Amino acid sequence: MKSRNLQRMTLIAMIAAVLFQPPAAKAGTEPDILLPECDVLIDAGHGGVDGGTSHGSLLEKHINLEISKYLYEELTRRKMKAALNRTSDYALSDDNHWLGSRSRHLRDLAQRKGLADLLKPKMFVSIHTNWAAGPRDSGPYVLYNKKSEDGRSLAVSIQQNLNKLYGTEARSPVRGRTYYILNRVEQPSVIVEAGFISNPRDRSWLNSKHKQKQIAASIADGIEQFIKKTQQTKELEALAGFEDSPRKKGRPYYERRGYITWDGPRNHSKRIALTFDDGPDEKETEQILDVLQKHQVKATFFIVGKQAEKHPELVLREANEGHELANHTYSHKYFTKNITEREIRDEIEDNQKLIFSITGKMTTYFRPPAGIYNEKIVNATLKAGHRMVLWSWNQETLDWDLPGSHTIANHVVKNAKGGDIVLLHDRVTGKSQTIAALDQLIPTLKEQGYTFVTLSEMLKRSPSEGTPMK
Ligand SMILES: [Zn+2]
Repeated sequence: MKSRNLQRMTLIAMIAAVLFQPPAAKAGTEPDILLPECDVLIDAGHGGVDGGTSHGSLLEKHINLEISKYLYEELTRRKMKAALNRTSDYALSDDNHWLGSRSRHLRDLAQRKGLADLLKPKMFVSIHTNWAAGPRDSGPYVLYNKKSEDGRSLAVSIQQNLNKLYGTEARSPVRGRTYYILNRVEQPSVIVEAGFISNPRDRSWLNSKHKQKQIAASIADGIEQFIKKTQQTKELEALAGFEDSPRKKGRPYYERRGYITWDGPRNHSKRIALTFDDGPDEKETEQILDVLQKHQVKATFFIVGKQAEKHPELVLREANEGHELANHTYSHKYFTKNITEREIRDEIEDNQKLIFSITGKMTTYFRPPAGIYNEKIVNATLKAGHRMVLWSWNQETLDWDLPGSHTIANHVVKNAKGGDIVLLHDRVTGKSQTIAALDQLIPTLKEQGYTFVTLSEMLKRSPSEGTPMK
């Protein structure tokens, strides 16, 4: 009993340490990765009477705890604020005095959720160990809930970093439907199945301090990557003034009304639309057109006017080879808070006129820089006679970040679904990996029965429809 109290005190001390740390200084040169309260609540799965899965005398609860502790150290070292909901081997159900359930398991899970409600972390990362009936299943799986896009994005980042460690390069995170924690915790939350206790190699890893540390470091890498991604998005959203025009009108609002498109029809036809942003570029666009020609594939180019002015011959080649021309603003400037609807319309219409003057073709589809949208941007798009098309959430390749052509190709192939709108770029900073990726992914998907279509073909509107020239 004594030690139980000690454990509880330690836990409270750790939570208190997190809660009462002074908020990080906002000013200064350091990137503001520090968030005011708790960044990451680490949930060490199972504990006490609940051992989790096992192999011989090896119990999941111990593995989970060790990895969780290393993760706590790792995150703290990186100046993130972490909290751990279990610091040694005990059941959290004993701490739950508020749920009158007779099920220890349920009280335990509810307590974990309760701590998340109390701490209000930026994210919730639950550490577990997997098990399968046979010895062959191996490697990491990260589970997420469909409820939050951020949760999926966090899962993608952690999965990718664990894949590097385990050599499971192309593996994607898995959507978990029925997990108590995933369905109830408000924050972006994931379950990390760190490996299979039933697989000999995984087991030796999960049981080794050295590997546990590496696993924790990979998870921390993923968390850090996720924070960077979301901070970029938040900054852009702040620029666009989402405080004024609340993002509460999110995807369902705009999608149902047909104001913004993310996916093509999710029917049985295996059609995929490749889209390229930010070009034309003197080096990359040419090569991308060559690869598309080689594989007899038509795609859609979201053209930036300023680039089109520099390379009209490339825009003309795109048109002549049957690709679709779409609109990505004249100057590619981010739509900041103070921009007027008129200015947004000018960005779209000036670009449309320019493309028309080069090719005689009208643009119909518009994609705002960085994919930021709000009511004002949507209104301006409609008034400029365009339809806003973003991209499928499962097909954000991050090709601009140069993750490796194999990684880009794998991402598209692994996530492929009929109706996908794939986001790629024909103008990136550094040496493009998109060209080599296309050369891999196109034949692979063709073998799997996919066909490549333009946005008009996918969304069943002709390129010249509904866009009166002013
Ligand atoms: Zn862009």
